[in-house]
Amino acid sequence: NRTPIIAGNWKMFKTAKEAAAFVGEVKGKAEVEGVQSVICAPFTALPALVEAVKGTTLKVGAQNLHFEDNGAYTGEISGVMLNDLGVDFVIIGHSERRAYFAETDETVSKKVHAAFRHHLIPIVCVGEKLEEREAGQTKEVCRVQTEAAFDGLAATEAAQVVVAYEPIWAIGTGKSSTAEDANEVIGYIRSVIRDMFDDNTAQQVRIQYGGSVKPANIREYMSQPEIDGALVGGASLEPASYIALVEGA
Ligand code: 13P
Repeated sequence: NRTPIIAGNWKMFKTAKEAAAFVGEVKGKAEVEGVQSVICAPFTALPALVEAVKGTTLKVGAQNLHFEDNGAYTGEISGVMLNDLGVDFVIIGHSERRAYFAETDETVSKKVHAAFRHHLIPIVCVGEKLEEREAGQTKEVCRVQTEAAFDGLAATEAAQVVVAYEPIWAIGTGKSSTAEDANEVIGYIRSVIRDMFDDNTAQQVRIQYGGSVKPANIREYMSQPEIDGALVGGASLEPASYIALVEGA
């Protein structure tokens, strides 16, 4: 009885104007009873998005935040600021941030705590590199990343976290994980959360699959018992495709 969640991760695409126009195209359509739909946009598009989704069931997310509330951190954005805008979700620890912007398990943990301080729901990304998969380390890598993400949380907070399992080799490559493989890893991630908290908490955590999800394969992933939705990059950028993803959930 977990509510499925489809989140579009626009990455570094779309201006404020384009974001508002997108909502104009998808509203009423990418709104399906029983499915949560979240658009994660660049910071500069967030005010326009928050305004555009008023009166809809669509939610807005950021793609990063700083772990401090304010301070001498040139170029950074804090949870205080996101909450002030009316943002509800924030992606934390995306593999692109881990690879290009020195995100670590330690900063991920601090950012998850910062998100909860400011009433933001974290969408925490975990997932293995190709070499790690080939070396049989997928579960170990996901366990370490998951333990860091949930470290020090109260069970009531942990239950609200959204995890996105994104095998790095499947991101933007058109080479998606099979639904069965993704289901197995996601079930394992849930068992890690169970070991840290309890079964009731683990059963409430929504765990998405991400990596080359498209309208053509969303139903396959959603038919798996452990998969609670998707975090989608490329296929979330076009209104028709985004609507089809939400419908497919
Ligand atoms: P693609 O859907 O473009 O493969 O990107 C996945 C992703 O990184 C979502 O966060």
